[in-house]
Amino acid sequence: MALLATDAVVLHSFDYLESSRIFRMVTRDGGVRSVLAKGARRSSRRFGSAMDLFAQGTAQLHAKPGRDLDTLSAFDVLRCRPMLGEDLGRFCGASAIAELTLRFGRDAADSALFDAVVAALDALSAAEGPATIAATLASAWHIVSELGFGPALDICGECHIELVADATVLFSHRSGGALCQRCGRLAPSGRVLPADARDALRGFLVGDAGGPLADAAARAHQRLLREFLAEHLTDGRPLRAFELWEEQRW
Ligand SMILES: [Zn+2]
Repeated sequence: MALLATDAVVLHSFDYLESSRIFRMVTRDGGVRSVLAKGARRSSRRFGSAMDLFAQGTAQLHAKPGRDLDTLSAFDVLRCRPMLGEDLGRFCGASAIAELTLRFGRDAADSALFDAVVAALDALSAAEGPATIAATLASAWHIVSELGFGPALDICGECHIELVADATVLFSHRSGGALCQRCGRLAPSGRVLPADARDALRGFLVGDAGGPLADAAARAHQRLLREFLAEHLTDGRPLRAFELWEEQRW
């Protein structure tokens, strides 16, 4: 069995048989992994509370070729994130980020994706009140961008001409981004994206949440993200944590 020692963040876990747990993690050197921690429920000595949701550390994974499930031999925790569990807004945001990462990340080394997830969980840990929505939006778009699906905002998604920076544009999910006036007139559907919303989205794609959003703007951004994910990253299954995050208001 090949041993991989890598930075890892716990994104989901569930009990397996009487004494073990299965963890789903994003790792720096192995991408998204499912790992079996034998005896994790029986002995707190071996893995302890270090393996709480959103904990980050160094994982020792044993991977077998052709097997989807690795074996975890050790997890040395570097950072716990109890702040995420203390506030429903933060927790729902972090759960939506975890779902997005687990659903669409791949099992190959991806430092940029790993760093985007770490940045997302750290930003959400520090976010207060309405700022958690902007932090989640920025985190999700940043991850979408690192997964290689980021929308074009400054050139037309159809004809690739440069767009006026402060113009209101049509955002076409189908075309993968903003459209020029001519292509916008021909597009069967889309969302009107005012200049300030396009500005915010530019920031989100690099993980910059900007200031807190007004409620209507936050809802419009959540809808835009949901529609974009449905168009480009769908596997036919609903994103339940994302839906819960979008429905809640605190
Ligand atoms: Zn065009």
